[in-house]
Amino acid sequence: MDSPSGIVYLVGAGPGDPGLLTLRGKECLEQADVVLYDALVNPRLLTYASRASCEFVGKRAGKTRTPQEEINQRLVDYAQAGKVVVRLKGGDPFVFGRGGEEAEVLAEQDIPFEVVPGITAGIAAPAYAGIPVTHRGVATSLSIITGHRDPTLGETTVDLSALAQEGTLVFYMGVGNLTRVVDELRRIGRDRATPMAVIERGTWPEQRTALGTLDTIVARCQQVGIEPPALIVAGEVARLRERLNWFESRPLYGLRVAVTRSQAHVSGLTAQLEALGASVFEFPTIDIGLVDSDEPASAFSDFDWIVLTSINGADALFARMDRLGQDARMLAGVRLCAIGSATAARLEQRFLHVDLMPERYDAEHTLSAIVEAAESLDGKRILLPRSDLAPGFLPDELRKRGAEVTEWIAYRTIPPEASPEMIAALVAWQPQVVTFTSGSTVRNFCAALSETELADIAAHADFAAIGPVTAKAVADAGLNTSIQPEQHDIPSLVAAIRDWHMARTNGSD
Ligand code: SAH
Repeated sequence: MDSPSGIVYLVGAGPGDPGLLTLRGKECLEQADVVLYDALVNPRLLTYASRASCEFVGKRAGKTRTPQEEINQRLVDYAQAGKVVVRLKGGDPFVFGRGGEEAEVLAEQDIPFEVVPGITAGIAAPAYAGIPVTHRGVATSLSIITGHRDPTLGETTVDLSALAQEGTLVFYMGVGNLTRVVDELRRIGRDRATPMAVIERGTWPEQRTALGTLDTIVARCQQVGIEPPALIVAGEVARLRERLNWFESRPLYGLRVAVTRSQAHVSGLTAQLEALGASVFEFPTIDIGLVDSDEPASAFSDFDWIVLTSINGADALFARMDRLGQDARMLAGVRLCAIGSATAARLEQRFLHVDLMPERYDAEHTLSAIVEAAESLDGKRILLPRSDLAPGFLPDELRKRGAEVTEWIAYRTIPPEASPEMIAALVAWQPQVVTFTSGSTVRNFCAALSETELADIAAHADFAAIGPVTAKAVADAGLNTSIQPEQHDIPSLVAAIRDWHMARTNGSD
């Protein structure tokens, strides 16, 4: 993709929800050598820029932003060095994003550039707050206005009387000037009962909305404690929120959940929690490393049963077959037992149907399911791919019943280093729930934190354990498990968190 002269893509990142990036924007990130991004951009989008170096050029609390001239210069320098550059901006690059100025500089320097529009916050945040910016019979126009009064520009005020007297008005960068905006609206004769909404961090899980009228909105914002970034919406359409508020009424809206999982598997749980409205902090506590060895010594086809206790076991099986130049036909005569629907799904991806899936996902139920299905275990050869940490109950019990068990250490759990910044951010975030999906997530989580940090988290959080073994590890760490599903899989864990949250919020009403 390296073009000799380089190119700059001015890409709109959308308002926050990572799903609101355009497909073209994603393509540009995938091709980028360098990404320059702002504070309003969701950092998760940077994972698409897998080959790029990413530079933050926005404003961080307490620090000044990178001067615009310097950003312009960097864009020019990188492009002239032949790089594919993405300038990633919150919302749309041309809506109060200074994207126009950057494009002018690039045009002047004859640098090829492309503009990828984004969903601007002024439309997306109201949509997520249940406010259609236009509505038949209610508002037939929309004005996008800056609420910012830049002192360096001599306090230029927007003359609102020059804008539509009717219709919806959306003010960007105006929370600090809310009183002034309200005064101005009064001055031009807008009705005091005009509905108004102020939306903070629209489309992010932390979105909050204050609803009022021209008369009450300032007080309402103070009550809610609205802070930037936020948008001000004025107009009759704001009234529709009372009926259309879909985002903030989802079951886990506002709940802060820390998910401790292996990096490789973190997204399934996160996605399910977020779909219900939770705000998720991913804290990776284990990485899985496949073990490259000559085991198992016997061919896979020699076994009567292969018992897979996790996705990792399935991955290790396929990886080993790949290395040996084999494929699924090796398993033609082998019966497959999978613990957990995710493990079974992994086998299905390779067109392998499982023969047996225990009703509950623990060693005891697996044992009785195999005993029942196999009639006699006497002399049966069973392969058990496992981690370096798995408990010995299942192989021991199978052996007691006459089976010939091969334990194959196929993958290792490796605690990843959590940076001190990440730990500090987690503690400051005050999670209300921390999820654990295995004993090692518990142990690694506790090991990553100091005693005071752990106590700090325990003071605010309830702990969720996927099953009894995990709950025991929580107890061993001196903590209490308050959320534990009947069935030990991710959807059941999510459902248990939902039930727990509903019981709690109903109770406190
Ligand atoms: N180019 C951006 C706007 C940048 S100006 C866009 O098209 O959305 C920055 C202002 O945008 C903020 O002060 C705030 O008023 C608004 N803003 C950006 N993201 C927002 C969000 N998620 N929720 C509410 N307001 C937001």
